[in-house]
Amino acid sequence: MQFNIITIFPDIFDSYFNKGMIKRALDKKVIKINTSDLRRFADPKDAHKSVDDTPYGGGAGMVLKIEPIYKALKSIKRKKKARVILFSAKGKTLTQQDLQRLKKYDQLIMICGRYEGVDNRVAEHLIDEEISIGNYVLTGGEIPAMILVDGITRLLPGVLGNLESPKDESFSFENELEYPQYTKPEKFKTWKVPPVLLSGNHAKIKEWRESQKQNRNNQ
Ligand code: SAM
Repeated sequence: MQFNIITIFPDIFDSYFNKGMIKRALDKKVIKINTSDLRRFADPKDAHKSVDDTPYGGGAGMVLKIEPIYKALKSIKRKKKARVILFSAKGKTLTQQDLQRLKKYDQLIMICGRYEGVDNRVAEHLIDEEISIGNYVLTGGEIPAMILVDGITRLLPGVLGNLESPKDESFSFENELEYPQYTKPEKFKTWKVPPVLLSGNHAKIKEWRESQKQNRNNQ
């Protein structure tokens, strides 16, 4: 899977993508991540390399212009199964099912908005879908891009190994939450691990987990 991220802050991603599972996936070449610095696609005559301008009709703040985004998109070599995503608060709210759907593409090209947002012609003409990560407003699409890369990468074959099981976890089956998990020590201060988990009785453990899951999902 190849991820391309169009952003005015390409450096933001370095630290996060150089740790843990994402780094492992990069090292194993399960994924490839390329960032495109949007300012490289600003008007070459503009010494300030500005990629934003004031909104038509007036109003507060600045809006990312269409031309640099168009040029950035054109500069990215498209794979056959590619999808272009714009992050915006008005997009479809991302779910685990969306991650399962999007992991089937060979390439996801993501556009990170900033300021007051992006010239709406980008949404109208240049993308396949708009994604929101929730009903709140962030300063930019970079965190949503990290979320998408992270959530999809861990679903790709060969990334988790036997360390975790995406089949049992939350939202994998009919949006259900997972059962509670505990680890050593058995007792911390006065707080004990539920005794059934120490019983070694697998049938009872399964039954307990199922009932805990039901409780969580009925809350
Ligand atoms: N004026 C816009 C509005 O009212 O919807 C908010 C723009 S926001 C400050 C700047 C950029 O952050 C957006 O263009 C988008 O790329 C990103 N962003 C903010 N909130 C987001 C969310 N909930 N989901 C996805 N992207 C978001």
